[in-house]
Amino acid sequence: MKITHHLEEAKSTLFSFELLPPLKGENIQKIHSTVENLLEFNPAFVDVTYHREEFVYHEVTSGLLQKRTVRKRPGTVGICAAISHKYNLDTVPHIICGGFTKEETENALIDLDFVGVDNVLLLRGDAIRSEGRFKAEADGHAYALDLLNQVAAMNKGRYLDPDLKNTNATDFCIGVAGYPEKHFEAPNLESDLRWLKRKVEDGAEYIITQMFFDNDAYFDFVSKCREQGINIPIIPGLKPLSTKGQLSSLPQNFHVNMPDELVRMVENAQSKEDVKEAGVLWCIQQAKALKAAGVPCLHFYTMGKAEPTARIAREVF
Ligand code: FAD
Repeated sequence: MKITHHLEEAKSTLFSFELLPPLKGENIQKIHSTVENLLEFNPAFVDVTYHREEFVYHEVTSGLLQKRTVRKRPGTVGICAAISHKYNLDTVPHIICGGFTKEETENALIDLDFVGVDNVLLLRGDAIRSEGRFKAEADGHAYALDLLNQVAAMNKGRYLDPDLKNTNATDFCIGVAGYPEKHFEAPNLESDLRWLKRKVEDGAEYIITQMFFDNDAYFDFVSKCREQGINIPIIPGLKPLSTKGQLSSLPQNFHVNMPDELVRMVENAQSKEDVKEAGVLWCIQQAKALKAAGVPCLHFYTMGKAEPTARIAREVF
């Protein structure tokens, strides 16, 4: 079922979560146990992230380095198919521009269509770790908007080869990302929202936000979106902070602000367990206030760990 149908049919705030594929070489059992630990909260859907290739360097002879390209967390499409068949859950694979030509994107979408996945979250993806800036493939997409237009075209039966006749029109429900605290490359929030609006005009049906730790950031973002005429559902993304190190790593990696009250709670925590507790309590408070405000769904970034999300969901749903 499409995410938009879940949202339309919902009588109250829905619960959903995001998973990371396991590291290459690990099995799928960790994914199954995370899903099983969260099933009792009746998830409306499960997102599975996509991880692009990275460069690693190996010393071959004294001092000479050989560059290798590796994908450390493959398996997004397979996990989506496995979860939806085993648990009868709707899954949302993340599809990114980075590392894909248009042809490869088309083939991945055909795979998804054939395994019965009809939801996609379309993203640009980040730069390769060792490269400073995002670089599109020679025949790939530079922005999520361009990727979205490819999917929207396939939904009308238009594939890359104009000579294909009697093509199957796919029926993907399209989600995109939103940034309450602005995408880090955008010159300002207004410009970021103009591009977001273009995505909506071209076929995006709902938005999932980047994590935030201050609900006002989400509420302000929603108001600004509505002022700009962006009227699709905006699903807040939440992550319980779990280590002291995340006070700096989350702002560094996700370009988000930490409220001072949370910073003080974490800094004053006496043990690792106390830090986790502070993160969970903060997230419970955020989730309760968002639910009370009637948000369509609460989407949790689990980072592969079910327990903190289960504790929060138990308090909130
Ligand atoms: P875009 O919409 O392409 O925007 C990128 C920047 O360009 C923005 O500053 C925007 O304002 C600007 N812009 C947009 N369109 C245009 C245009 N046509 N011309 C000029 N400027 C433009 N990354 C992964 O690698 N894998 C994942 O699974 C993943 N999942 C995510 C899930 C969520 C909910 C979120 C919020 C992010 C996720 N990311 C993931 C991270 C995401 O890929 C990065 O934040 C990336 O830097 C931007 O992606 P985007 O789709 O927002 O890009």
